[in-house]
Amino acid sequence: MTYDPENVFAKILRGEIPAKKLYEDDVALAFPDLHPQAPTHVLVIPKGPYKNHDDFSAHATDAEIAGFTRAIGKVIDITGAADQGYRLIANCGAHGGQEVPHYHVHILAGRKLGRMLPSAS
Ligand code: AMP
Repeated sequence: MTYDPENVFAKILRGEIPAKKLYEDDVALAFPDLHPQAPTHVLVIPKGPYKNHDDFSAHATDAEIAGFTRAIGKVIDITGAADQGYRLIANCGAHGGQEVPHYHVHILAGRKLGRMLPSAS
């Protein structure tokens, strides 16, 4: 699957869809999730056209990878999520439940988040 430049996060990066910018630098942008699943629910995305983590790790530059990792840390700091703890999630591909095909990391915080995965049934 090639990168789809019409995905919603690509449109946010191009300014075609609004988003409240919580953090931005050369390589990353952070904004609140449209449908928050915790009191703090922020998405951090790289600015480059990467579909998911394996695409990002294989094709992004070292500067993009380092900058993106540090950007996540800065957003954790900005939101105060580190005080009580938080969860990072990167859904990738069909089995990962990825809805938007532009790599993103969810930062979830502000309440006890429960089990990592629902029990198998
Ligand atoms: P994922 O399943 O990891 O691909 O999750 C995609 C996330 O993007 C979901 O949690 C959506 O609520 C969120 N989302 C979709 N459209 C927007 C938007 N325009 N602004 C902010 N978040 C969005």
